[in-house]
Amino acid sequence: MSEIVERRRALLGPNVSTFYDDPVHIVRGEGVWLWDASGRRYLDCYNNVPHVGHCNPRVVEAICNQAGTLNTHTRYLHEGILDYTEALVDTFAGDLLTSILTCSGSEANDIALRMAEAMTGKRGIIATDATYHGNTALVSHLSRSNIPEVGFGLDQYLRHVEAPDSYRIDDPDGQRFAAHVQEQINALEVSGIGFAALIVCPLFLNEGFPTQVEGWLKPAVEAVRQAGGLLICDEVQSGFGRSGSHFWAHQKQGVVPDVVTLGKPMGNGHPVAGLVTTPEIMARFRHSFRYFNTFGGNAVSCAAAMAVLQELRDRDLQANAARIGSLAHERLTALAEKYEVIGDVRQSGMVFGVEFVLDRGAKTPASDYADRVVNTMRSRGILLSKLGRHKNTLKIRPPMPFGEEHLDMLIETLDSVMAEIPVAP
Ligand code: PMP
Repeated sequence: MSEIVERRRALLGPNVSTFYDDPVHIVRGEGVWLWDASGRRYLDCYNNVPHVGHCNPRVVEAICNQAGTLNTHTRYLHEGILDYTEALVDTFAGDLLTSILTCSGSEANDIALRMAEAMTGKRGIIATDATYHGNTALVSHLSRSNIPEVGFGLDQYLRHVEAPDSYRIDDPDGQRFAAHVQEQINALEVSGIGFAALIVCPLFLNEGFPTQVEGWLKPAVEAVRQAGGLLICDEVQSGFGRSGSHFWAHQKQGVVPDVVTLGKPMGNGHPVAGLVTTPEIMARFRHSFRYFNTFGGNAVSCAAAMAVLQELRDRDLQANAARIGSLAHERLTALAEKYEVIGDVRQSGMVFGVEFVLDRGAKTPASDYADRVVNTMRSRGILLSKLGRHKNTLKIRPPMPFGEEHLDMLIETLDSVMAEIPVAP
């Protein structure tokens, strides 16, 4: 193990993170399972990119067939991108009828921000203060957790609002969030930069997937509309049925965005991402910026993405996310009755977790405990992670075919790990 860690350090440079104190060297995957170099099997409770299962045979076959036939860019005519775009936009309501395909969610968000500038003539962007939207020069500034010290001065265009947190902040109907958005809209207008867009993940997944009533986001969206800005929903994590109740999480919020950005699960690991928007916004963008992406929308990517859509539909994996998610909520709630250290249980379709606290009254984050749970679970063959402002919330976000027997294994192991490891080390 140390040899491969050393090679990485020498070849990839410093400060390249790995998961776990004892990093996992994975060599094979199938469905919800992963195998390491020694042949040990792990239950994958974390990865949302292999949306329809690791090495899904239908996706692999689609990629192989297309790669064996043709792979070129979008300057040649090809039905693949058109057939896929038709199938994709069919899953949206309203006027979201056109698409640009890219290779990463970051690129999609970068385009979305430029669309907002093209539509409004302004540059001010609002995001939450505990989010992540990607890694381009502009988009990386939206992230507060890793503020770049340099970056072309682009941070002047960005403003942050307090991220929702249903456990610690009282905002049952989204009015407080909306008021904060309004404050930042006003500040941007006064500054002369002007307000262009609000960008949010409709499930606030990177923020710790707070529990929210349907339509929680509506007051904030009203403020955005009144100010003439765009609503960009980043569905890079929340989309393609993960919320269980809806194919797109913005539908759960009861809002229709101007731009929806997509990524991670879209090609089941093949690098395809993109966005969907209205014909009007698309036309404005296409005239304002000359955009071409060599790999975005290539024939192999489209074949992979189409196979993912078909697999989701044929196996009704959205319904599975709803069913397993709600079972997971029940099982985690039962654990919370047993262990004081669980302060809150949260779940949104096939994303669930618990927040650990040292004291339920004071809600003091048990971040170190969360870290030990995650590492001990890894040593027992269960892969999951933690997130949130205090890194004290378990992040469980498995591939969509995750079933009841997998949930049993996860909860039984978590129960035995929690019974064993002391809250204070
Ligand atoms: N948006 C969200 C909500 C994300 O979680 C991520 C990646 N974690 C991105 C955008 C960036 O996507 P990519 O890594 O494909 O550029």
